[in-house]
This record gives sequence, structure tokens and C-alpha cells, in this order.
Amino acid sequence: MKTSRPIRARISGAAIRHNYRLVKKLAPNSKAWAVIKANAYGHGQWRALAALRDEADGFAMLECENAVALRESGITQPILLLEGIFSARDVRAVVEHRLTTVIHCQEQLELLLQAGKFEAPLAIYLKLNTGMNRLGFTAANLPRALEMLRQVPTLEVSLMTHFAEADGERGIDWQMARFSKLAGNWSGPRCLANSAAIIRYPATHTEWVRPGIVLYGASPFADQSAADLGLQPAMTLESAIIGVQELAAGERVGYGGTFTAERPMRIGVVACGYADGYPRHAPSGTPIAVMGKRTRTIGRVSMDMLACDLTDIPEAGIGAPVTLWGAGIAGPVPADEVASAAGTIAYELFCALAPRVPLAVDEV
Ligand SMILES: *Cc1c(COP(=O)(O)O)cnc(C)c1O
Repeated sequence: MKTSRPIRARISGAAIRHNYRLVKKLAPNSKAWAVIKANAYGHGQWRALAALRDEADGFAMLECENAVALRESGITQPILLLEGIFSARDVRAVVEHRLTTVIHCQEQLELLLQAGKFEAPLAIYLKLNTGMNRLGFTAANLPRALEMLRQVPTLEVSLMTHFAEADGERGIDWQMARFSKLAGNWSGPRCLANSAAIIRYPATHTEWVRPGIVLYGASPFADQSAADLGLQPAMTLESAIIGVQELAAGERVGYGGTFTAERPMRIGVVACGYADGYPRHAPSGTPIAVMGKRTRTIGRVSMDMLACDLTDIPEAGIGAPVTLWGAGIAGPVPADEVASAAGTIAYELFCALAPRVPLAVDEV
């Protein structure tokens, strides 16, 4: 819906494309699934799709219905269902629309084999649990699954696994060792790397990789910024100042009065609150930009508004542009910094963007 309330999430298709190309440069011999689950991490699935339509090697997501919609929109690349199938109906859709599905447990495998007729070749991803302990086959049940799959030669099997600590100190070697042990003399395709592994561990660049967060221009690492990685922010959350208050020393701001002015201050009230997806946990001091200058939030975030310090930005009055995160005209504010101030990660900020925030598109 078009609204006159000034908040917008501006999505840059060019940035998404730039980031995808960076992945391809980092992993030049791998195909890359563009992970567009969760409405493309809040960026709008169809917008991300439009940006990558002509260059992504494939698209990865969760809901079968959604994958069918993608296929029906004319996407010819492979489409991967990251959590696999949930019903016999899903299996029929997978076959009919040539979707690639993950199979992560024996029950899913049986569902697939019972509900599907595999007359034409169909790619599937057999998921191995190498220590994340979320989804996947283990040494106890993998041999039986592979044996069952050998009976259906039209199923073209790839092996995949997911890294739990590619962004952390423990890294991936331990999971790579478990993968090799489970895979044995496997010579078929493998798909291992998420964003963090793509950047830090070339050894994980197998036939396919699975970039998610990097496509949207945030860093998968706590200790390395998106800009340092050469990424461009794809989402800019911007709004405007809708109120200004002059405070005397000792005045408090917002619910709970958690911020007290120690000296006379000028504060701006921004049309953005937690009902827009801005994190309520962001404390006073979280970075924000107004009219090209970086400043800080003040007091508690309320449902529809938050306050910021305009003491050193006297030129900013009502209507002044504000960047909550991203690369807006009001100045850059990395989403990773806002997330870190709020004790979370940019993934969560992006996904939590509320439906009431209109998405504005910078050309695709
Ligand atoms: C979401 C997801 C990814 C992408 O992870 P990023 O950290 O965003 O790159 C890759 N693989 C699987 C299985 C996922 O669920």
C-alpha cells in the first residue's frame, strides 16, 4: 500500500546483483543457489527474483506453494526446497514442476518414494547431519537411505550439509571431516557452504553453494563489516522527523523515562517504531543518521516512534530525512551495527520488517 507516512524500505536490485556477483567471484567454480527464503530475508521475494532472474544459477526457499508460484512465473532455473516436502501433495508438485527437494529424514524419503512417480530425472538433495544437530541423516540411517535411492535411478542425488559455526572460532573443519566420513567414496554433487563459509573457507566451494545474508549486503560475521567484505546494503529503512522537542537538563524521554538529558538537548521524533520492525531492544545510543549526519537514538523505542539526538544537527527539523539502516540519502548506517546494538543480527532485523512498511524499489 502506498502511504504518506514517511517510512519506507528501499530495496536495491542493483545491490543484490552486485552481491550475487561477488559470491560468484569468490566461488568461481561453484553454482550458487540464491537463498530467497523468508520473503528474501524481508526484501520481497519477487523483487529479489527480478534482480537475479537472469543470472542466478538457482533459487532456494521453503514453501512448496511458493516454489510452484516461482516456476509458474517462468523461472527455468532449478528451485530448491530447503526443508523438503511436508505432504504427498508437495511430492506431486515437486515432480510436476521439476523442483529440487531436500530429503532430511527417513520419513521424508518414504513420503517421497510412496507419493511420487519418477519417470523423468529429478534432482534431490540428501541432507546429512554433520554436527549442527538440526536436520539430516547420520551414520545410523544414511546407508539405508542411499540403498533405497539406488532402486530409483531417475532420482539424481546430491549430498548437502549445513555449517553451525562457519562464522565462529570453531569453523568448519570438524564438520568437513564428518561429512567426508559419512559420504565415503561419494563422487556425486555436494552443496555445503552458507554465506560465512563462502567467504572464509574455499574448501567448501563444491558444485553448489548457498548464499543468503550476503546477497542482502549484511555481514555473516560479528568481527568483519559488510563494507570490508565489499558488500552493498540491499535494504535501506528510511523515514523522517515528525516531531522536535527542546529538553531542559533533567527531562526524560519516552516510556519508562529510561533516558535523562544531562544538559539542554534537542531531540527529533522519527516515524518508526517496533511495529515497523525496528528492534524494541535497541538501547539509547543505537546509531541512526539524520540529514547526512550520524547520531544516536534516545530512550525506549515505542510502537510507532523513536527519538534521536538532534542537538548537533540544528538544521534538522520536521520532515528531515532519517536512515534507520542501510545506505539512504540521510547517510549510511550499517544494519549490522543497529543489530549488534540491539543484541541481535541483521538477519533478524531484515526478516522482522513489518508488512505495514511499504517497499520502494530502486530500479531492478
Ligand atoms: C538460510 C540457509 C542458508 C543461507 O544462510 P546464510 O547464512 O544466510 O548465507 C543456507 N543453507 C540453508 C540450509 C539455509 O537454511
